[in-house]
Amino acid sequence: MRAGAVFFDLDDTLIDTRHQLLPAALQRVADATGIARERLDATGKRIEEVLRNVGGLSAAQREAAKAAWYAPLVPELEPLPGAREVLDELSGRLLLVLVTRGHPARQRRKIAQCGLGPCFDEIVIRPFEASGSKRDDFARVMGAHGLTPKLCAVVGDDERDELAHGRDLGCLVLKVPDVALADVPERLREAGIL
Ligand SMILES: [Mg+2]
Repeated sequence: MRAGAVFFDLDDTLIDTRHQLLPAALQRVADATGIARERLDATGKRIEEVLRNVGGLSAAQREAAKAAWYAPLVPELEPLPGAREVLDELSGRLLLVLVTRGHPARQRRKIAQCGLGPCFDEIVIRPFEASGSKRDDFARVMGAHGLTPKLCAVVGDDERDELAHGRDLGCLVLKVPDVALADVPERLREAGIL
């Protein structure tokens, strides 16, 4: 049994979704639906959020937008600076868990294309449609491994998702890029987790 665990988010924590994938995804939705790209909400994660400012869409347009947004076509992705290094450093010492929320086929493809999958002891892909939240995933993994929150950290970028859940449970919470990935091991040592 490992002494502690680190839960990593994927998108914009270990890979640069915003710059490497978002522009093409927005363009695919625009091309598939005929909606001007400027009308799409680039801050949205789910297609419903991307389309929130666009009224009067037909069912066919909505379907086309959904298929385009979640297309499992993902180019080869370069992990964010420090991602591979931090995972290599922690590997074998702490339980490493990737917890990502999204469209499963697309998330699986992203994991394959960035090459980081083998770095993890466990990978949890939570579908957007599923009930519950990442909090449930954190709690389940901790329970399965007999870990208390004080021995666990959450590394992510989303204050409304993994960071809020981690904080709520009492885990150490490290927000990227405020905390550089390269500094994660030191923060874990300070907290007595590593
Ligand atoms: Mg994220």
